[in-house]
Amino acid sequence: MREFELVRAASVADAAKSLAANEDAKLIAGGTNLVDLMKEGVETPGTLIDINAISGLRDVTMSDDGGLMIGALASNSAVAWHPDVQEHFPMISQAILAGATTQIRNMASMGGNLLQKNRCFYYPEENARCNKREPGSGCDAIEGINRMCAVLGTSEHCIAANPSDLCLPLRALDAIVHVEGTNGQRAIPIEKLHKLPGDTPYDEVDLRHDEMITAIEVPPSPIARNSHYRKLRDRTSYAFALVSVAAAIGVEDGIISEVRLAVGGVGTVPWRDEEAEAAMVGQPATQEAFSAGAAIIFRETKAYSGNGFKIDLAKRAIVRVLSELSGDAK
Ligand SMILES: Cc1cc2nc3c(=O)[nH]c(=O)nc-3n(C[C@H](O)[C@H](O)[C@H](O)COP(=O)(O)OP(=O)(O)OC[C@H]3O[C@@H](n4cnc5c(N)ncnc54)[C@H](O)[C@@H]3O)c2cc1C
Repeated sequence: MREFELVRAASVADAAKSLAANEDAKLIAGGTNLVDLMKEGVETPGTLIDINAISGLRDVTMSDDGGLMIGALASNSAVAWHPDVQEHFPMISQAILAGATTQIRNMASMGGNLLQKNRCFYYPEENARCNKREPGSGCDAIEGINRMCAVLGTSEHCIAANPSDLCLPLRALDAIVHVEGTNGQRAIPIEKLHKLPGDTPYDEVDLRHDEMITAIEVPPSPIARNSHYRKLRDRTSYAFALVSVAAAIGVEDGIISEVRLAVGGVGTVPWRDEEAEAAMVGQPATQEAFSAGAAIIFRETKAYSGNGFKIDLAKRAIVRVLSELSGDAK
C-alpha cells in the first residue's frame, strides 16, 4: 500500500478546503470500500481526509410531510434499523440489510455506500485490462468473466454493474443527494449522480473533486409503505446481487395507481425506467401488466457470454415482487 497522510476534517468546509488544496486527496468515512481498494493498489491517495469527526451528519429525521433526511455519516445499520425507515420506507431498510454483513454495515456510511466502486472481476486485477482503473487499456470483462456484469447501459468500454443495494430504493423514490464544496451547496437528483460509462467509464459520478456528500433526502411517498426489496444472488447472504428489485405499488379497486421500480445487478447505474412505470399505471394489477412493464425495461439489452440469464431472471423477479405487493401473488 502506498504511504499516505491522514488528516481529520473538523467541518464540511474544512473537508472541502482540504480536498480543493490537494488533487491527490480522498475522503474516508467507514473505509470499508476505500481501504480494500488501497490495499489492492487500485486507489492510491496521497492524503486521506477522515470525515468521521464532523458533527451533525449522522442524524436520520422524518419531517412532518413524511420525507426523510439522512446524514451522510449515518451508518448503514442505523438507517436500516431506524423505526421510521422500517415503517415508512421498508424497501430502504431491506435493501441495506441485504448487503454486506452486520460488521460492515455498522462501519459503512450512507455517503460511502452511494459512491462504492463496482465489483467487476477485472477492476482490482493489476494484470487485467480495465478502462475504469486504467483509461484506454480496454475491457477484459466483455469477453471474459462477466456473470456479475450489466446488460443495460453498457458501452464497448465498460460493462461493470453498479453494486449498491441502497441506491435502488433511493432511485425508485427520487432521492436527492445534498453536497457541499468550496463553491457552496448543491442538490443532485440521484438519477444524475451516477454516470453511464460511455467512452469515459472512469468518470463515474457527478461530483467535483472538492465536494462531499452531506445528506440524502428522500421525498415523501405514501406508497413506499407498501414496498419491498428482493435480492437474488449466488449465496443467500454476503454476496452482491445478480438481480434485485426495489418496488413500491399503489392499487385502487384493482387498478394500479402508482408504481416505483428500480432494478439492480443489471445496470451500469442504478436502473429505473419511468416509461415502464407509466405503462403499468391505469392497468389492472395483474401479472400480465407487470410482465408488460418488465418487458419495457428490458427492451434494449446487451447480454454477454455469462450474464444473459439475468434478463429473464429480472423480469420474473419484477413480476413476483409487484404481484406480492399488490396481493396478486400466484
Ligand atoms: C465484503 C463486502 C461485502 C459487501 N457487500 C455489499 C452488498 O452486498 N451490497 C452493497 O450495496 N454493498 C456491499 N458492500 C459495500 C459497502 O456497502 C460499502 O463498502 C460501504 O457502503 C461504503 O461506505 P464507507 O463509509 O465504508 O465508504 P468508504 O470506503 O469510506 O468510501 C467509499 C468511497 O466514497 C467516498 N466517500 C465516502 N464518504 C463520502 C462523502 N460523504 N462524500 C463524498 N465522498 C465520500 C470515499 O472517498 C470513497 O471513494 C460490501 C463491502 C464489503 C467490504
